[in-house]
Amino acid sequence: MAFLKTFKGGVHPPDHKQLSKDAAITEAMVPELLTVPMAQHIGKPAQPVVKVTDEVKRGQVIGESQGFVSANVHSPVSGKVKRITECNTPLGTKTQAILIENDGQDTWAEGCNVESNPENLTPKEIRSRIADAGIVGMGGATFPTHVKLSPPEGKTIDTVLLNGVECEPYLTSDYRLMLESPDTIVKGLQLVMRAVNCNNGYIGVEANKPDAFKIMEKTCKELSSSDARLAAVMLEVKYPQGGEKQLIEAVLNREVPSGRLPMDIGALVQNVGSSHAIYQACYLNRPLTERIVAVTGEAVAEPANLLARIGTPIGDLLRHCRFDEEKAVKLICGGPMMGLAHFDLEMPVNKGMSGLLALTDASDWDFRHCIRCGRCVDGCAAHLLPSELSIIGESGRFLDAEEANVMDCIECGACTYVCPARRPIVQWIKLAKQEIMKERLRKAEQAKAV
Ligand code: SF4
Ligand code: SF4
Repeated sequence: MAFLKTFKGGVHPPDHKQLSKDAAITEAMVPELLTVPMAQHIGKPAQPVVKVTDEVKRGQVIGESQGFVSANVHSPVSGKVKRITECNTPLGTKTQAILIENDGQDTWAEGCNVESNPENLTPKEIRSRIADAGIVGMGGATFPTHVKLSPPEGKTIDTVLLNGVECEPYLTSDYRLMLESPDTIVKGLQLVMRAVNCNNGYIGVEANKPDAFKIMEKTCKELSSSDARLAAVMLEVKYPQGGEKQLIEAVLNREVPSGRLPMDIGALVQNVGSSHAIYQACYLNRPLTERIVAVTGEAVAEPANLLARIGTPIGDLLRHCRFDEEKAVKLICGGPMMGLAHFDLEMPVNKGMSGLLALTDASDWDFRHCIRCGRCVDGCAAHLLPSELSIIGESGRFLDAEEANVMDCIECGACTYVCPARRPIVQWIKLAKQEIMKERLRKAEQAKAV
């Protein structure tokens, strides 16, 4: 048997996907009150452009993008603005938010939810539709998509890769989307390819999803043309296969150099969920107001893949799936490797929330000294020395981590997962990166003041 494509490094955590993988996507109940965050993306938060008592329609812009790296925010329902407030985010921060009282009518704003033929759109028009629709990386990265599709002068993209890997344990929302809506994903890919003027598109799918691979392969064949060569690529099951740089290495055998971006080597990666959202924006004039959330984990009696409106409290989704609050010892937004633990059941669903996990296993995080076993080094997909980074982190010398290339860490958590001494390596790394970014900002401001 031929070897499947993959990257160097990585680990093999149990996938736990059987809990929700057979649950078809169903619509979650739309609540009476929705809290719509203004920061749901990397970059500047959107600015509210509605005021208390304003009537709003579904798809209406309620938060305007601020500058280039930002994204519009739209009302997920029709109703009335009750309050401009604040809410928690899955990153553990707070953001401004708009509280909307749902009128139950679901009336779309003028021009939204109307079929349109994007065949004659220019690349610039496709990018504007995507920007207007507030689309961001829906695999969790939440980078505004129109920015990714606007490489600077002189940079050429020759290949677009769609990420259908979903390598995080438990998560199944992308898997269900590939099974249930392959056409919209591939048509979204074609739009991305047109937006960056390239002819090659691939969809990477791990070998543990053979049915999704088959259907994506078939759809690619059907929609392939001389202008858009499309193919599905089956990849080895390994974490973090879905990391942007790891996917590029696996499919194209190209390495993104340290400190550089995929576009520097002619590649662009999009999540399959974002591709579906791009289809909806360009074929149906639908801004991004909902997403699929896998609600799963051992403390959930009826795991599901729910199509939820942005702004729905996560507690509503968990209760819908009969989550056992007594049994759950940890609640995680996202997957268990990269997601963060949470406590606030009122926190709203946002554009990047791929999963909600209620787990019964409380990990013991009493860590010990590094025994220099090298497992973290073998598992690191970014080819770093996590053991060294952990020692730097433990001693609190966070700024020294820059020389050990900590900024190349993709925060996949594989090192922490394999460490027999249970050292919280990725947590120290995140702290180090924050301190380095603060220091860079401080130096930039100092230089400006001179
Ligand atoms: S050092 Fe970073 S990239 Fe390497 S395994 Fe740890 S978290 Fe992943
Ligand atoms: S896996 Fe843990 S114990 Fe082993 S070298 Fe890495 S940090 Fe040290």
